Amino acid sequence: MLKLDIQLFAVPFRKTSKTSKRMRRTHYKISEAGTTTCPKCGATVRPHRVCPECGSYKGKEVIKSAKETTK
Ligand SMILES: [Zn+2]
Repeated sequence: MLKLDIQLFAVPFRKTSKTSKRMRRTHYKISEAGTTTCPKCGATVRPHRVCPECGSYKGKEVIKSAKETTK
């Protein structure tokens, strides 16, 4: 006996036009990166990252003189 592996898909009735596709994608935007303030120096820092200004993480200095090494 012959076995047929036929899969049924939902087939779009019409091709989505370039304009329609582009109009939909106008809502695709990058979200703003989350920020917190450093407890040591008060600079705006990304969460869960070492402060680039003073090199501290969770109130402790992790990198010594981070500002001098980055320059
Ligand atoms: Zn800091």
